[in-house]
Amino acid sequence: MLLDKEAQLTQNSYYEASVTRPAPSPALMGRVSADVCVVGAGLAGLSAALELRAKGYSVAVIEAKTVGWGASGRNGGQAIVGYASDEAIETQFAPEACKRAWNITVEALQLIRQRIADHAIDCDFVPGYMSMAVNEKKGRQLAQATADIQKRYGYEMQTIAAPDIKSWIASDRFHSGAFDPQSGHLHPLKYTLGLAQAARAAGVQIFENSPVVEIVRGAKPLVKTKQGEVVCDFVVLAGNVYLDAYGKAVAPELNKRIMPVGTYIVATESMGKERADALIRQRSAVCDTNFVLDYFRPTADHRMLFGGRVSYSSATPVNLIGSMRKRMLDVFPQLSDLDVPYAWGGFVDITMNRGPDFGRLGTNMYYLQGFSGHGLALTGMAGKLVAESIAGQAERFDLLAKIKHHPFPGGPLMRTPALVLGMLYYQLKDLL
Ligand SMILES: Cc1cc2nc3c(=O)[nH]c(=O)nc-3n(C[C@H](O)[C@H](O)[C@H](O)COP(=O)(O)OP(=O)(O)OC[C@H]3O[C@@H](n4cnc5c(N)ncnc54)[C@H](O)[C@@H]3O)c2cc1C
Repeated sequence: MLLDKEAQLTQNSYYEASVTRPAPSPALMGRVSADVCVVGAGLAGLSAALELRAKGYSVAVIEAKTVGWGASGRNGGQAIVGYASDEAIETQFAPEACKRAWNITVEALQLIRQRIADHAIDCDFVPGYMSMAVNEKKGRQLAQATADIQKRYGYEMQTIAAPDIKSWIASDRFHSGAFDPQSGHLHPLKYTLGLAQAARAAGVQIFENSPVVEIVRGAKPLVKTKQGEVVCDFVVLAGNVYLDAYGKAVAPELNKRIMPVGTYIVATESMGKERADALIRQRSAVCDTNFVLDYFRPTADHRMLFGGRVSYSSATPVNLIGSMRKRMLDVFPQLSDLDVPYAWGGFVDITMNRGPDFGRLGTNMYYLQGFSGHGLALTGMAGKLVAESIAGQAERFDLLAKIKHHPFPGGPLMRTPALVLGMLYYQLKDLL
């Protein structure tokens, strides 16, 4: 079961080791009334809660475990413009709608900066993100994509030509790249806990250790846990891949369109400021352009935080630290003297086309899922758009809700083998 597999991935996280959590919020007991009930205290749910509260709604957030327990508290910390795949949008939308969809992701980056400033969230934000190509062919594709984005959306990125690459990154692995000064990176668990604190201060009620097991739909939905229930006017489902792990009566129609894919991260011991400064210019976040990508960045306390690999079987890879350390040393062999004390991971909610999957069930239940591994920034806007929609301004929510999705072939039982075959194809392409 997903949650049992997940338990192994949560125990050795650098993020959990580097925060002091506040005392847990109480579990939901008895009956509570709220205008809106949000299921899930990750970035999507907390963002929705903050935005709704700012519009005057009373909000209850119900979390099965603790704030930021899911992907939001465990991710690579890379806040990047755009979508996991722009293809879903560009093949389905007219150019003007594509531009509006792109602008939502630019606003997502501004929203992070604004929230950090408004709520004084200390989360180690560093601007700057590099996309790196591992060979000449991928370098040409990246340069073309960068030029296209500039032309179509007016979004400025700096091309890093092959002869300059070594002045940007101390690695032989990369051919060329592109630098984006607006994207960046942060400590995601500190950020998520900061949003929760801001939400509480604004009057949002957060209930932890309260799995939602059933939702009785209707004009006044009833969101039920084992010991309590919230009666509300609207529900926002922001449960990532876990939503139906606690009860099939929550929203069974949703999990057909997403599939949990494991991805993993290690963090080294601190290497000291001078050494970390010399690895990556401006201490930016970095991703390569492979389909099964490596993503990495220095932390505020001068560790290398290196993510990558994927697991489609949802089983944790054997020798996780060893295999991730090897990937890191392929990029930075000069880090071979560093211990790797932390390794963890989590599941991303990928859709078939990698586009986000937002929408409604009936008129008063909203869902936000399908971030496909690219949700750190976009979850903020997902919450903002759902709040706009509940308040009667549905235009931007409806734009993204128009993205068409297909269920994984074979449904939940067969989707893994089907996906593994598809991924093997893309992994082979990464080698070309
Ligand atoms: C290892 C890893 C690395 C990643 N790296 C990046 C990155 O560098 N950049 C990037 O943009 N994205 C990255 N992502 C993706 C990003 O983290 C997610 O897209 C984003 O955090 C999703 O937020 P969320 O709020 O939808 O889900 P989550 O943070 O998973 O929150 C969902 C919450 O809902 C709760 N919940 C679920 N069901 C129920 C229920 N029935 N009752 C009550 N509560 C429930 C869960 O317990 C959970 O806390 C990464 C993901 C992982 C796992």
